[in-house]
Amino acid sequence: MNLRRMRAFGKFSPADKLTTIMPCKVLFVLNLFLFLLQCVRADILCQTLGCLKSAEDIKANMDPGVQPCDNFYKFACGNFLKTSVIPPDRASVSTFSKIEDRLSSQIKTVLEEPQSASGPHIFNLMKKFYATCMDEDTLDKLGVQPMKVIIEQLGGLPVVDGDRWDSSRFSWINTTYKLRDLGFNHNLLINIGAGPDFKNSTRRRLLIDQVDLKPLEDFLREGWRNKNVRAYHSYMVKTAVLFGAPVSRAFRELKDSIDFEITMTKFIVPDQELRNLSYLYNLMSVHTLNKYYPSIPWLEFLNRIIGPKISIDSEELVMVTQPKYMSSIERLVQITPKRILANYMLMQTVLSSSAYLCKSARRPYHDFKYVLTGVNSTRIRSQRCVDEVAEKFSLAVGSLYVRHFFDRTSKENALELVNNLRQEMDYILQNVSWMDPQTKKNALEKSKVLKVHIGYPDELLDDDKIDLHYKDLRIVPGDLLTSVLNLYKKSVDYAYTQLHEPINKTSWKEFGSVATVNAFNHIDKNAIEFPAGILQEPYFAADRPCFLNYGAIGTVIGHEITHTFDDEGSQYDKFGNVMNWWDDESKMRYNEKASCIIKQYSNYVIEDIGFRINGITTQGENIADNGGVKESYRAYLECAKQKNAEYKLPGLENFSDKQMFWISFANVWCTKYRKEAMELLFKNDDHPPAEIRVNGPLSNSYDFARDFQCYSGSKMNPKHKCEVW
Ligand SMILES: [Zn+2]
Repeated sequence: MNLRRMRAFGKFSPADKLTTIMPCKVLFVLNLFLFLLQCVRADILCQTLGCLKSAEDIKANMDPGVQPCDNFYKFACGNFLKTSVIPPDRASVSTFSKIEDRLSSQIKTVLEEPQSASGPHIFNLMKKFYATCMDEDTLDKLGVQPMKVIIEQLGGLPVVDGDRWDSSRFSWINTTYKLRDLGFNHNLLINIGAGPDFKNSTRRRLLIDQVDLKPLEDFLREGWRNKNVRAYHSYMVKTAVLFGAPVSRAFRELKDSIDFEITMTKFIVPDQELRNLSYLYNLMSVHTLNKYYPSIPWLEFLNRIIGPKISIDSEELVMVTQPKYMSSIERLVQITPKRILANYMLMQTVLSSSAYLCKSARRPYHDFKYVLTGVNSTRIRSQRCVDEVAEKFSLAVGSLYVRHFFDRTSKENALELVNNLRQEMDYILQNVSWMDPQTKKNALEKSKVLKVHIGYPDELLDDDKIDLHYKDLRIVPGDLLTSVLNLYKKSVDYAYTQLHEPINKTSWKEFGSVATVNAFNHIDKNAIEFPAGILQEPYFAADRPCFLNYGAIGTVIGHEITHTFDDEGSQYDKFGNVMNWWDDESKMRYNEKASCIIKQYSNYVIEDIGFRINGITTQGENIADNGGVKESYRAYLECAKQKNAEYKLPGLENFSDKQMFWISFANVWCTKYRKEAMELLFKNDDHPPAEIRVNGPLSNSYDFARDFQCYSGSKMNPKHKCEVW
C-alpha cells in the first residue's frame, strides 16, 4: 500500500518526443478571437487551431471499419493501434505519452540553457544536476568504484567477499541505520514513514507498514516457475559479478536471497485485502511495540530513523497497518542466516544505485527489463536525465514549468468546468434512490467542502519560498550518485521533521508538483487536483466546442470528483478522516452496487496475454471512470444547451454532437501496449487497460447506447448494467 493516500487519474509511460512549445498568452487570446470569427464565417464548421488539430487526431485514430456498438474503443482508436509505432525504448505509446513527451522536451530546453543570475537559485542547481547526469564520460571513468566505497562502509557484501565477510559484525538494524544515514532506502524489512493519521488527518503519525516488493511482488508469489523471477536472479548475478563476486557463488547465494523475498511474499498482505482502511488502523505506543515485537529496540530504532532533528518518547502512538506482518517478519529475520539477510539488504541497495553508475553497471538492468517488458533499447540519455530531474526536483520543475510554459488563463476556464461537474455530482447524490436522507445529507456536505486545486499554487512563482524548500541541498558536479543520495536524504529528512507539525491541508508543497500529465484526488484532504500539465490539448483548449472539452478533460474532472465517493473515498468523511458516515442499510446498498462493478470488470480478460482484470483492486478506479463520464455527459448537455448550436469538426460532420462527446472521450485513451509489458503493467496498476477504461463505462451507459443507437443486447449495450453513481 501507499503510505500516502492519493488516487491518480492514470499511470502513463514517460516521455521522448520533440514538439513545439505551448502557445503564449497573446496567441491564446488570438486563437479565441479566431475561434469566434472562423466559426461564424464557416457557418457550421469550426476552423480554429484547436478544432482542426482535434479533428485531425480523431480522424487519424479512428477505424470506421469497426462498428461502434461492437467495440467502441476499437472504433475510436483502431487506426491508432494499427499505425502507431511504440518507440523502441518504451513499453507503450498513447495520447498521454505524446503530451508527456511535449512537456518533457519543454523542460529539457530550459535545463540546457546556461545558468542564470535571475530566478530561483534551485534552477541553477537543477541544471548542475542535469549536466552531471549527462556526463557519461565521467560516470564511465568512475565505473562501479563509488558504490564499492559505500559497500565497504556498509560492512561489505557477502556474495562478493566470500569467507572474508564477517557475520559477527552484521546486524540488520545497524545496516538499516547506515542506509538511512547515507540516503538509501531503509525500508527493506519494515516500512516506516510519516503520514496523516487516518482518523485525525490534521496530525501526522509514524506509520509502520509491510514492505513493498513491487513491481515483482506478484511474480515472486509464484516462485521460481515464473520466468521474471528467474530473470531477476540473473540480473542480480550479473550485477554481483560486476562488483567482484565469482559467478558460481553469486548464482548460489543470490538464489538464497531471492528465496528470502519469496518467503516474505507469503505474509505480505496483497493489495486486494488492503481496501478496508479501518483494518489498517492499529495505534500502538512504543511500549506496546516493545511488548509485541521484543527483538527490536523500538525507541532507539525509531529515533535513529526519524532523527536527529526530531525524536519521540515511549508514549508516542504509532500506526501499525499490519500487526501480523510485523510478527512474521520479526520471526523470519531471527531464523534467517545473517549472510542471506546481508546479501538481500546490500544487493537491493546496489541495484538501486546502478542507474547512477557507469554503462556496464546499467546493462544488467536493461537485460532484465527486456524480459519484463520487451523493451530492448536504452532510453536516450537526455530524456532519462530530464525524468530524473522531474522526479527528484518536482516542486522546482513545477515552478519552472508554470513560469515558462503554462497558459495561465487555462486556470479560470478549467475552474468553470470543475464547478459544472461538481453540480452534476451533487445532482446525482440528490437523486439516488437507494440512500437514506441522513447519509445523503452527509454525502452532499462532503461534496460541498471538496477543495479544488487547479493549475499551480502561487508560491511556485516566489523565488524565496522555492529556494527555502531546497535550502542546504548539495549537488556535487561529476558525482551523480552522491547528488542523488543527497536529494533522497533531504526529502526523507523533511518528511520526518514534519512528524509533529500540524498538517496544512492546502500547503503549496502538497500541490506544487504540477509538471505532470495527471490528476489527483487527495482523499485525506478531501481535495482534488488538476495540475498545470494536464490543462492542455488534447484534454483541454478554450477554442473548442463543448463536446470536445467535456469528453476529454471533463471526464477526467468527473473521475477525480467521483473518487470522493468510491469504495475507499466513501470511508473518509468531509474532513478527510476515516469515519463511518453511512447508515448501515445505505452502506449495504452501496456495497451491492460496487459488487456489480467488481463482477463486471472481473469478467474482462486482456486477450493478448490471457490476463484477467482484478475487479477488486481496480474497483475504485472503475467506479470513478463510470461516474466521471456520466457526470461529464450531463455537464456537456448543459454546456451545449447554453450555446444553442455547436460547430462541427471538419471531416466529422456526419457525427452528431452527442456522438462526438463519446468519440472525444475514447480518443484521449488511445494506447498501444507492448504485449510483453502488459502483465507487468497491469499487475502493478489499479487502473485497467485503456480499452476497458473506455468500453467498461460506456457499456453501462444508456446515454451512450441511445446516441449510437446500439440495440439492447449488443456488445456495447448489454442488458445487464452496473451503476454506483
Ligand atoms: Zn483515479
